[in-house]
Amino acid sequence: MGSFFRKAVLTVLSVIAFFSAGCTVYGYGGVLGNTGNILEDEEVPKETEATAAETEPFNNDTAQQTTSPVPVSPWSGSVTDITEKPKAPEKQQTSENKLSESGKKKSEKIVDNTDSKYSYDDMREDIDKLIAAYPGLLRAEVLGTTADKRKIYDIIIGNDKADRQIVIQAGCHGREYMTCLLVMDMAEYYLQGYNKRSYKGKLISDYFEDFQVHIVPMLNPDGVTISQLGAKGLKNPQLRKNVAVMYKNAVTYGYTSYSEARYYERWKANAHGVDINRNFNGKWEMAEKLKCASGWGYKGTSPESEAESRAIVKLIGSLSDPVTVISYHATGSVVWWDYAQQGNFRSRCYAEAKLISDMTGYKLNPYDKTSCAGLCDRMIARGGGKTVPILIEIGEGECPLDISEYPEIFRKNYRLLPALMDMYG
Ligand SMILES: [Zn+2]
Repeated sequence: MGSFFRKAVLTVLSVIAFFSAGCTVYGYGGVLGNTGNILEDEEVPKETEATAAETEPFNNDTAQQTTSPVPVSPWSGSVTDITEKPKAPEKQQTSENKLSESGKKKSEKIVDNTDSKYSYDDMREDIDKLIAAYPGLLRAEVLGTTADKRKIYDIIIGNDKADRQIVIQAGCHGREYMTCLLVMDMAEYYLQGYNKRSYKGKLISDYFEDFQVHIVPMLNPDGVTISQLGAKGLKNPQLRKNVAVMYKNAVTYGYTSYSEARYYERWKANAHGVDINRNFNGKWEMAEKLKCASGWGYKGTSPESEAESRAIVKLIGSLSDPVTVISYHATGSVVWWDYAQQGNFRSRCYAEAKLISDMTGYKLNPYDKTSCAGLCDRMIARGGGKTVPILIEIGEGECPLDISEYPEIFRKNYRLLPALMDMYG
């Protein structure tokens, strides 16, 4: 009886260790879940033990040992926990040991990837916590301030002396705020495994030695706030009034048939009603001229009239050799890469797009001659054929994307940075 009881306890412990370890990274509701923000049952991604093991993208010894003797990993099977991997561990003992370890790690997980409305304040808090948790590995700079007085942050990871840079930008469109969660979660994943995880046999830290990486997790925080909270989320009363007028105008001009609440949820623009990805100085003249500022589609009064577009352009312009600029958008699961580039530059753009398409399973979008006034259009028009601009559309549902899509989105995208750094070697 005693032995049976001990066995039962150990089994339970090992299951808990597995789930809590999984949650360390995923943070999904699960058995133990993250503290707070646990999803309702019907929203919890249907992730059985078997599928978790099948798709477990993380270097988690406990999960791998508990579920499968052969780790299956999208990191080309090459994920190795160099510093922590025990040799021929005794299963039950490892599970017990790992319980305390993973329990500790769980509480250290910072970015809550079960958060269905990852907000500007969440992001700011997480940036502070990441800086405190990983001293010396990252820093943050402010690229600009929005109309409603929110800051546009740039998180810098890697070697400041490296002669090449990579820029990842998210949250350009308000309602696409899952992209903000994604890049913050990815940043934490790299920091967590900085000296432990490897990709194609090379440590994450070694990749970051060769590059300086800039992550702009929320380019349009006012737009994100409007999508999450409506006009009332804005602090400035005049901006609140203006945004309400924009809804009335949109109805008047037949730009929308949504209710006011739904119109705000679907908001893409900034607090001035300018669509940032229609505001860049690349084929701006071609962009449709709406009659008024609006929740989406209005290009502004002049190219780069907005703090948000100027902020990212200024950042890219300040870098010595940005090899690529990735813009995360939603939705559609496609990779936009073809802007009728020519010659060697076109080949490089295609190679990078193909790598991302193979990694994510997102399809390559064919050339669309109507594309205009986006960041990619600007980079093609004024980037001198140096920097590869790629736009990745995550997800499949209507924006704002449902949090139930997130686990798969993360699995498809989290290898992006090491894969790019490996490609640019
Ligand atoms: Zn977008």
